[in-house]
Amino acid sequence: MVKAENVHKSFGHVEVLKGIDLEVTNGEVFCILGPSGSGKSTFLRCINHLERVDGGRLSVDGKLIGYREEGDKLYEMHEREVAAQRRDIGMVFQRFNLFPHMTALENVMEAPVQVRGEPKAAARKLGLELLDRVGLAERAGNYPAELSGGQQQRVAIARALAMKPKLMLFDEPTSALDPELVGEVLDVMKDLARDGMTMIVVTHEIGFAREVADTVVFMDGGVIVEAGKPADVLGNPQHVRTKAFLSKVL
Ligand code: ATP
Ligand code: MG
Repeated sequence: MVKAENVHKSFGHVEVLKGIDLEVTNGEVFCILGPSGSGKSTFLRCINHLERVDGGRLSVDGKLIGYREEGDKLYEMHEREVAAQRRDIGMVFQRFNLFPHMTALENVMEAPVQVRGEPKAAARKLGLELLDRVGLAERAGNYPAELSGGQQQRVAIARALAMKPKLMLFDEPTSALDPELVGEVLDVMKDLARDGMTMIVVTHEIGFAREVADTVVFMDGGVIVEAGKPADVLGNPQHVRTKAFLSKVL
């Protein structure tokens, strides 16, 4: 589903991704761990066109992200193609970024109606189903300010799912939450994983990674230092930097 080959990204003279290689298969839950500044968000943002890859190849579902390939030449994609690629990828951020002037249901209906041009009735039906799925059927009419952080994040997940993405990206979805609200968001993510959603999750929730991930990678300094099954990477890390990181977060 996602393939990165020697992916590079710099901001000015600072190289933030220094050759990322990875492959995420259909239905896989792929967790990325790593210290602050290691390039985790930048990598996710590249997948979702929020940053542009400037070296190597990054593809989703066999299609190169951001570039059109003709022979051995790469051309930048047209806006329309970029928009089409982005529609298939849902993203959930640390900050929920819900529209404050819209109810939970309106937030979830927004993209299907505005982007996909769905009739309101259909978007509403789907929105209510998705809110039910994240345990918020009763809260459809509430505004974000009337919801807890955990509830807002669950609305954000429902909103991302409303575009029926093939791939979901989570960038530290629980790190802005009070500890007692973390579990309800992780439960929704576990549910999604069980349903076969392909997910890349940047998280410091080692318990979640151990329980749900198929693959865990440890990133540091713009490279993947270690990758493998959670039992190996978390239970028996080989690299000194992985060991040092885990000893701090466990
Ligand atoms: P954290 O755990 O704190 O979220 P991260 O692993 O997600 O860290 P990134 O946000 O990807 O790290 O940032 C990696 C590096 O790239 C940092 O040094 C950051 O300052 C730099 N960086 C990120 N975005 C930009 C930008 N738009 N312009 C310049 N530098 C940037
Ligand atoms: Mg980050």
